[in-house]
Amino acid sequence: MHEHLLFGYPAVNAAWPNSFDRAGAFARVVRLLSEARASGVDTVVDCTGVDTGRDAAFAAEVAQTTGVQVIMSTGFVLDVPRYFRGRSPKVAADFFVADINDGISGTDVRAGIIKVASDAARLEGLWELLFRAAARAHRETGVPITTHTDSSQHSGLDQQRVLAEEGVDLSRVIIGHSGDTEDVDYLERLLDRGSYLGMDRFGMDTFADHPMDTLQRCMVIARLCADGYADRLVLSHDATCYCVHTKGQTAYETAAEALAWWDRTYPDQRPARMTSLVIPTLLEVGVAPADVDKMTRNNPRAIFEKQTPY
Ligand SMILES: [Zn+2]
Repeated sequence: MHEHLLFGYPAVNAAWPNSFDRAGAFARVVRLLSEARASGVDTVVDCTGVDTGRDAAFAAEVAQTTGVQVIMSTGFVLDVPRYFRGRSPKVAADFFVADINDGISGTDVRAGIIKVASDAARLEGLWELLFRAAARAHRETGVPITTHTDSSQHSGLDQQRVLAEEGVDLSRVIIGHSGDTEDVDYLERLLDRGSYLGMDRFGMDTFADHPMDTLQRCMVIARLCADGYADRLVLSHDATCYCVHTKGQTAYETAAEALAWWDRTYPDQRPARMTSLVIPTLLEVGVAPADVDKMTRNNPRAIFEKQTPY
């Protein structure tokens, strides 16, 4: 429910095309998604923003080659262009609606989800503007919203406040990266307002401020399931199948070195680990098979089946 085929830098890549090895990226993404397909993953949601290299033509080719369905998003991650300064949320909302109704960047690939992001406790500035735009596009089209949060900042709560102010039914929203915390009180506050939670960073053990491995992440899910929330959780890795941006201390000169760093640092951050590692660990810590089914099949289906505008 939250992966990335690519993580890129569109302005840099457009200015200097040799900064992006498309063929190399394609081969790597196809390899990782084929591995996922063989392990039982039928569909991935690509939550890549316009600011981080969303590429519908690339995704369509990957889907045709691997047989994995890819649901594309419209929206932004954290690097909102200054283009939107001083503009009404309607400007961004109209862009999102066009991606949803007409297709992305001249392709016939239509966006199936709206992605917005914030990293702070309080939603302000361009991040807030985009949440208001996402709310309008969502209400006009019925397409669900998925978010990026910093769970250490409890960002999800203020995201819910702004979306609710815009009249959004919070049960049509996934508050993402909620699996990065063991603060169950925070998570249950979000759930009690009706939203889904993305427990979606399996394999990013050392990425957040508070490192969490697969077992710790599964224990939190087991607790939420025991508290009756299995019908509100969705699972993922936030896997960046091709990413040359590292958080390491070394200044890598080549994409190959950066990719090797990802593979060393996050060996379990790949879509195929859902069936080979995440689900077995959930079962081990006592999550019922029926709850695993809800989180991996029924809940995603329910999220995408609700398409009524309001
Ligand atoms: Zn992401």
